[in-house]
Amino acid sequence: MAIFSFHPVKPITTGEGGMVVTNNTEYYEKLLMFRAHGITKDPDKFTNEKIRNAPPWYYEMQELGYNYRITDFQCALGISQLRKLDGFIKRRREIVKKYNESFKSVEEIITPYEKPDVKSAWHIYVIRLKLDKLRATRKEIFEALRAENISVQVHYIPVYYHPYYQKLGYKKGLCPKAEKYYEESITLPIFPAMKDQDVNDVIQTVHKVLYYYRR
Ligand SMILES: *Cc1c(COP(=O)(O)O)cnc(C)c1O
Repeated sequence: MAIFSFHPVKPITTGEGGMVVTNNTEYYEKLLMFRAHGITKDPDKFTNEKIRNAPPWYYEMQELGYNYRITDFQCALGISQLRKLDGFIKRRREIVKKYNESFKSVEEIITPYEKPDVKSAWHIYVIRLKLDKLRATRKEIFEALRAENISVQVHYIPVYYHPYYQKLGYKKGLCPKAEKYYEESITLPIFPAMKDQDVNDVIQTVHKVLYYYRR
């Protein structure tokens, strides 16, 4: 199965919701039940022995499912978004090209890598700080960028740092590389509606802040 999110921050959105695709009929049928309270209305699937000639209103709840149904309104938005997807991705790739070009000269950051055989949709653009080359922590640099009105983010806090997983016994130190990545990463703004001027503002501000904190 492959799973897509259509949350508003993603390349296309349905407001909320998502999509699961599979080429496995068994999983497909399980998913149909799972999204609708574990209920089936398909007479071929009824397990209740006594039901030979099921009345028209009959259905069976066979498993514990949930209400994970996306609405038709959301799907209508999704279909219209899908038509714009190529344009959205094209614009994101243009922005990435500008970022990559411009940050080549900044020794204190590592730009994200795209494998030659891959075409990234650039859902996010994460730079990594070479903290040994800087006089500031990631937090200070993050705050400096925010203070300059650049809406930076961090993607993501390692999932097992969260109390839910800590309580289950997952210890910090479990994934040293992911943890290092987390310590040094900052996500820059990227979205198709960004104007060239916006992109330039981000670039100039990153240059300015890193220049200031350079060792
Ligand atoms: C968007 C996203 C999620 C959450 O998806 P939902 O549709 O909100 O459940 C989880 N993990 C990653 C990496 C994501 O990008």
